[in-house]
Amino acid sequence: MSFWWADRGRPEPDDVLDGDVTADVVVVGAGYTGLWTAYYLSGLRPDLDIRVVEQRFAGYGASGRNGGWLSASVTGGLDGYARTHPRADVARFQLAMNDAVDEVIAVTERHAIDAEVRKGGTLLVARNPAQAERAQAFAAFGERWPEVGVELLAADAADRRVRVAGTRAAVWEPHCARIHPARLAAGLARVVRERGVRIHEGTTVRAIAPGRVDTDRGVVRARHVIRATEGFTANLAGERRTWVPMNSSMIVTEPLPADAWAAIGWEHFDTLEDLAHVYSYAQRTADGRIAIGGRGHPYRYGSQTDSDGDIDPRTVAHLRAILVSWFPALADVPVAHGWSGVLGVPRNWRATVGYDVASGLGWAGGYVGTGVTAAHLAGRTLADLVAGERTDRTTLPWVDQRARRWEPEPLRWLGIHGLYRAYGLADRIEARGARRTSVIARVADRVSGRVS
Ligand SMILES: Cc1cc2nc3c(=O)[nH]c(=O)nc-3n(C[C@H](O)[C@H](O)[C@H](O)COP(=O)(O)OP(=O)(O)OC[C@H]3O[C@@H](n4cnc5c(N)ncnc54)[C@H](O)[C@@H]3O)c2cc1C
Repeated sequence: MSFWWADRGRPEPDDVLDGDVTADVVVVGAGYTGLWTAYYLSGLRPDLDIRVVEQRFAGYGASGRNGGWLSASVTGGLDGYARTHPRADVARFQLAMNDAVDEVIAVTERHAIDAEVRKGGTLLVARNPAQAERAQAFAAFGERWPEVGVELLAADAADRRVRVAGTRAAVWEPHCARIHPARLAAGLARVVRERGVRIHEGTTVRAIAPGRVDTDRGVVRARHVIRATEGFTANLAGERRTWVPMNSSMIVTEPLPADAWAAIGWEHFDTLEDLAHVYSYAQRTADGRIAIGGRGHPYRYGSQTDSDGDIDPRTVAHLRAILVSWFPALADVPVAHGWSGVLGVPRNWRATVGYDVASGLGWAGGYVGTGVTAAHLAGRTLADLVAGERTDRTTLPWVDQRARRWEPEPLRWLGIHGLYRAYGLADRIEARGARRTSVIARVADRVSGRVS
């Protein structure tokens, strides 16, 4: 289980479904996507009987395990969307994500959810020449898309924000806040329950069909059925190849002493990432720890999901080594906790939200590791769609994105492991001083369809 739940206190499943029921709306999955959908829909239509069905407890999945980056990053990339959609719509998408960051913060304030929010932006550091080249490319991207707010920082300016060893340049973006993931999930669950939404925890859904959801505790019949299961989607009947469950892993240190913080100089609470292909991401927690995450073991054969966030010792050692390479002063820092989680990746690497009026089926997810803010916008959009309201959100480019299904095994396993091996190799070549982004990474981007 994640440090966040250990810190907050892990809830016991509550309000388990007790036999068959009929409602107006049933949402499968009580992560951020399901909870935000319930939050906005109960606000728009207080008359509706809304049920959320959750196999364990609200926030059990990635929403209670993530790095706590409330980031405005658009999964799939603005340039990628600009190839298929009008530029103005793509810019509107970015602005909607920027607003979503502030709206999440406003909701936490409105409902006294203590999610330990600090909006300090994001710092992406370049630590070798090829990464510095990518920082330059990022700056050029920022000129094409001023909505992102990209600032290119020289090494000394980057060091003034956070002193990461070997920084050659960095990129800073303003639209990101640090949060405590489990506190946000628990707070949202409390608020939606206060609004009369029933969250049936400890209830596993086996299959979803128009008008009904079959669980191990009974059938929920409803006109509107929303799938919000993200990285766990492959476990549902008929969904094995819809989105692959990709692993991401994290460790958190013990609280750092004041002199360690002084050595690092991480005063603005920026979230922090490197510009490696297999990147690592970190936050400074409210109680003075560093939580850092990275890919670890990327994918389990047959789209298996995890067991309660287990992590292997090799991944812990790997993440610790990255942390120490960023901050050599932390060579002796003890690791307090490590865990893993699953996130959903569609074949086109683009997140999606959609609702089919005829069948009453809706879905959202496939956020590819940047879902904390996107789940908010997706849930709010689903609420609009179910309520039958046409808004600025319901016409954004990601609405109704359809990706083809993933390849069957063993191709899926071979492809994903091959991809991450290629990125890892590209990182090692670049770390030895290559001046340009490795051709291996460029080819991997093209072959995987991940290019943005
Ligand atoms: C380690 C890690 C770090 C990450 N870091 C970041 C980050 O810093 N910033 C960022 O933007 N994104 C991050 N992400 C991604 C982000 O956490 C997710 O995109 C987001 O939380 C997805 O929310 P969700 O509600 O769609 O899915 P989830 O939170 O996974 O919720 C799905 C829920 O559905 C339930 N469920 C699934 N199947 C069933 C079923 N059959 N029956 C009943 N219930 C079911 C699950 O138990 C779960 O509670 C990270 C992910 C991981 C794993």
